[in-house]
Amino acid sequence: MESERIVAGLHCGEVLADLSEHLDGRLSFDRAERIDEHLAGCAECGRLFGEVTAAVRALRQLPDELLPPEVEERLAEALPG
Ligand SMILES: [Zn+2]
Repeated sequence: MESERIVAGLHCGEVLADLSEHLDGRLSFDRAERIDEHLAGCAECGRLFGEVTAAVRALRQLPDELLPPEVEERLAEALPG
């Protein structure tokens, strides 16, 4: 992996460390927003987040209804395509 960047005030490592909590919607609003900003501005983390999201959903077979709507929206915004 290339050297750590700082996007939206967060290191990639911080974002990755919070990724699973972010997926579960367990982060504070401010924290989640900051991480979304990083994901939107950091191609590497954004791509990884997409992969992790898909993998977690597949593993948990999580029905979409269990995710809060605002999390769904944030995912859609954060992920390209
Ligand atoms: Zn990053």
